[in-house]
Amino acid sequence: MNIGKILEEARNGKLLTKEEAIALLRVRNDSDDFYKILFLANEMTRSEFGNKGVIFAQIGINAEPCSVNCKFCSMGKNHYSMESIWRKDINTILQEVEILIEEGVDDIFLMTTADYPISEFINIAKEVKEKLPHNIRFVANIGDFDYDTALKLKETGFTGVYHINRLREGIDTTVSPKTRIKTLDAVKKAGLELYYCVEPIGPEHGYEELAVEMLRAREYGVGVMAVMRRIPVKGTPLYDRGQISAVELTKIAAVARIVSKPNRAMNAHESTQMSLIGGVNQLYCEVGANPRDNLSNTEKNRGLSVKMVKQMLIDADYEV
Ligand code: SF4
Repeated sequence: MNIGKILEEARNGKLLTKEEAIALLRVRNDSDDFYKILFLANEMTRSEFGNKGVIFAQIGINAEPCSVNCKFCSMGKNHYSMESIWRKDINTILQEVEILIEEGVDDIFLMTTADYPISEFINIAKEVKEKLPHNIRFVANIGDFDYDTALKLKETGFTGVYHINRLREGIDTTVSPKTRIKTLDAVKKAGLELYYCVEPIGPEHGYEELAVEMLRAREYGVGVMAVMRRIPVKGTPLYDRGQISAVELTKIAAVARIVSKPNRAMNAHESTQMSLIGGVNQLYCEVGANPRDNLSNTEKNRGLSVKMVKQMLIDADYEV
């Protein structure tokens, strides 16, 4: 396939096919076509999103063994690899939220493991919502749920949900793709904004697997798209498989930007400066538990602060 032609058609608004997405992903990382992909993704993001840099913050509110047992996650119950087990109390969460608001985040995410009781989660969310100014979006990142729960999340004040069909779902996790898709449908049906991501990308994943999720995101009409490379966390079953390079992640992010066509922001995680010249304009600050970290308070290890991600966006000539 002719890469220049695919990119020109994408620039003119054509929705790319799975085969065209795969052709872009197959481009060698040391070729001039690689830079053409980054160039178009960058152009689309800067013009369509008004050159705005966007900052999200996620608070992982519990560090506990999780029955879904994802083979890449430090909290899978069969290979729990964090140094401690805890649930954050409401006052700690509220204090953290206040600081994040002061520091200037755009969206706030609350994350739990899949077994966290939904009623407790809703109670916490109600109190957090009261603290949030109207311009800050509020996003839930929890286990699977049905339409009634989606409506409850909306009533509580959530504006969106981060939910995905993971790569090799049902193989590297114990949840079937069918269950994930039911939740995605419930999110959309309830009128919540869906935040999507191709993740967790490892060296063993084929480009077709990535392209399928990019097209799924487009079908759901996502506002915010993301790609994430798997971090090999010591103690997890997939640790030995290693990780893809930041250059490869940057190409995948640029292709996802072009193929999925989010209408608000594009993210690549974990944050790297180089992805910001290839169509990425949104970064995450992380607090509390994080499936990619052995330390249960990720802000002391892998998690970046608002100040750090703001500086990365400014360095990439985004306005924050
Ligand atoms: S990634 Fe999420 S669902 Fe999977 S084991 Fe970790 S906390 Fe549970």
